[in-house]
Amino acid sequence: MTERVNLVAVSKYHTEKDILAAYSVGQRHFGESRVQELQIKHQNLPDDILWHFIGHLQTNKVKYIIPYIYIIESVDSLKLLREIEKCAAIYDRKVNVLLEIHVARESTKTGLSISQCRELLADGEWKEMSHVCICGIMTMATNTEDIDILKEDFRTAYDFYKEVKQEFFYDNDDFSIRSWGMTHDYLVACDNGSNQVRIGTAIFGDR
Ligand SMILES: *Cc1c(COP(=O)(O)O)cnc(C)c1O
Repeated sequence: MTERVNLVAVSKYHTEKDILAAYSVGQRHFGESRVQELQIKHQNLPDDILWHFIGHLQTNKVKYIIPYIYIIESVDSLKLLREIEKCAAIYDRKVNVLLEIHVARESTKTGLSISQCRELLADGEWKEMSHVCICGIMTMATNTEDIDILKEDFRTAYDFYKEVKQEFFYDNDDFSIRSWGMTHDYLVACDNGSNQVRIGTAIFGDR
């Protein structure tokens, strides 16, 4: 059985003209990683674009994107989740989020460790948050061309997704997104549990 994979066109550092070119052939999901850049693009581009926030998000900037953001893929702390809940309540919105986990071997990558993510979920405070919808897991693999390492990273994320699905979201259809795979590793990602890829370079060229 082949599952559908959602394509997020990662448009960070690319122009509004480039985004409109993709939009005109039907692309609606776009990914941005900086608040200021997203604010400007959101103002100037069509309203039916589904904006994914994929970069590290500071709590003091959450309020700027809450009125229109479709999904925040990079939730890496309880503090950030609380701020999203607080701001979304003010705007009377329900905001989709993914929990970003760190599986890569580089220490530079952001995200919750698997044990931190387990703790966040086990703690249960999120269950009282009526303005956030936890829709799945996001991750980035090690920055390498080594397929065995990529595979292992994606498998770690996929196994964790399944564990969390079973333990906390078995009766919740919203929790279904596995967001992994970028330009250089999306084929390996799709073979290893991904149902959402975030691709920039292969669509728009070098940044
Ligand atoms: C930039 C970025 C991507 C896309 O990377 P490409 O290699 O250009 O496809 C995907 N995910 C995140 C979190 C990014 O920051």
